[in-house]
Amino acid sequence: MQPEQLMLFEIAPDFRDHKKYRDGIFKTKAQLKEELRQLGRDRIYHVLSFGGGTQSAHLLEQHLQGLIHYDYIIFSDTGAEPQFIHEQVTWWQHRQRACGNTTPFLITHHSSMERGLEEMLMRYIHTDYQRFQMPVYCSTLDPVTGEIKAAGMMPRQCTVDFKIIPVKQAARRAVMELNGLEYRQQMPENIGFIIDIGFSYDEIRRINTSQSPQFKYMRLAYPLAEENLSTADSIRFLEDNGFPTRRSRCYLCPFNCDGARDIGMDWDEIIEAEPLSFLKACWFDTELRRVQRSGSKIMRSIPYLHYSRRPLVEVFAAEYARISAAYRVELAEWVSSWEAAIQEKWNQDELLIRA
Ligand code: SF4
Repeated sequence: MQPEQLMLFEIAPDFRDHKKYRDGIFKTKAQLKEELRQLGRDRIYHVLSFGGGTQSAHLLEQHLQGLIHYDYIIFSDTGAEPQFIHEQVTWWQHRQRACGNTTPFLITHHSSMERGLEEMLMRYIHTDYQRFQMPVYCSTLDPVTGEIKAAGMMPRQCTVDFKIIPVKQAARRAVMELNGLEYRQQMPENIGFIIDIGFSYDEIRRINTSQSPQFKYMRLAYPLAEENLSTADSIRFLEDNGFPTRRSRCYLCPFNCDGARDIGMDWDEIIEAEPLSFLKACWFDTELRRVQRSGSKIMRSIPYLHYSRRPLVEVFAAEYARISAAYRVELAEWVSSWEAAIQEKWNQDELLIRA
């Protein structure tokens, strides 16, 4: 059979056939609205969790075209996005204005670590802070044979802690203010929220709940998965319209791949676009293993930012040599300014490991 004939028989994806939908983990927006209404929460605020990349930009454009209603567009700054993602966020703010759309566009961050993932990592490295929130690749050392073995990944808690929860908190704060209430007061019993997350159909495995664990009156919806759209569909849509197409992520994200596993977000792009950020990632990668060796951390595995479980400075040896020579001063300034900031903010009660 010819490939064209095979394509005729290709089955179009349908979220209703997926186990996550059949098991009630992923629900449609209509189902979520109905759930809230049945609880008496019929004043529903619709929020877009905007990541600055491709899929949530697709949703934002649908909003600008009048196809989806949002009361708030909220971007949570993880403190480690590359500059080109901040530029894309600004680009979309300009486009929103050019379209005459006035939906509040809020920028928020983690509630106690305002400088985001860099702050979490610096705190982890410089103090006895133990909560490690990034999906690093791990190895373990066999104490008998001395053999180093691959040992899975740490959970991807940073997406929840540094992106999704800050968006929910910002939405809650905005609606409380709108209703003349303080943040700590109780949410009126007739108010509910639906927060749209830009997971595509091909990312449906990432959907773990439609109910916010933090706020009982908030539900999480996944409109792109509900439209059976893939990540590639969103990128094609943005390309066809001449919109920016960089994928959103942090510059040090372990899900950055290299050419061999290219999924549109890779280390090469960071090396080329933001060499200093690449150096910072190398610094974190090396320091995390140094701190593990000190024995002061609960985490026992040996962490790596690169999926090969090799140091970044080895994987990209030639690039590292070239860039580190060019940015030595800037890197040293960044390290020492962070040391001072962590000392001032977090070392009141926490032990300084480096000392
Ligand atoms: S892009 Fe990567 S490092 Fe950043 S929040 Fe998401 S999973 Fe974590």
